[in-house]
Amino acid sequence: MKNDKKVAARAALTKYIEENNCRKTTERFALLDAMYDIDGLFTIEELAERMAVQNFHVSRATLYNSLNLFVKLCLVVKHRFQTETKYEACCDTSNHCYQTCTICGKVTEIDLPEIAKVLYNVRLKRFRREYYSLYFYGVCQTCQARSKRKKNLKGTKKSNIDKNE
Ligand SMILES: [Zn+2]
Repeated sequence: MKNDKKVAARAALTKYIEENNCRKTTERFALLDAMYDIDGLFTIEELAERMAVQNFHVSRATLYNSLNLFVKLCLVVKHRFQTETKYEACCDTSNHCYQTCTICGKVTEIDLPEIAKVLYNVRLKRFRREYYSLYFYGVCQTCQARSKRKKNLKGTKKSNIDKNE
């Protein structure tokens, strides 16, 4: 399944390169493969690290240019979060819903059939829709537990002061 997507993405890139007489660089295909091997979302730094581990050194400029091209070709989805930008290899231009933690930045994809149904029926004026990405911002369970522990700690200190008074 995943390999099918990679093959489709490679085919789309080859088609674009041929039609636009671009140079067929091995870097671009190596980047595309690396992205489709990543499970879920990644930052540009994570992608660079992954390439370096494979002994494939790509310049920052090539990374940015390639990513922008992949976004344009709908082979990669760009997510702009509050704290950073993440990418996701996805060539099906389907709809996605995410929950993102405003404290640690963790992003999880969620399945919300009831929301999907509502959005499917939304009519947009003078606009041909292709797909949507929906983000819920909030605090993940781990961060909630962490802040609760902090509060409790403060609470104990405060009650000690109260006792001394
Ligand atoms: Zn969190």
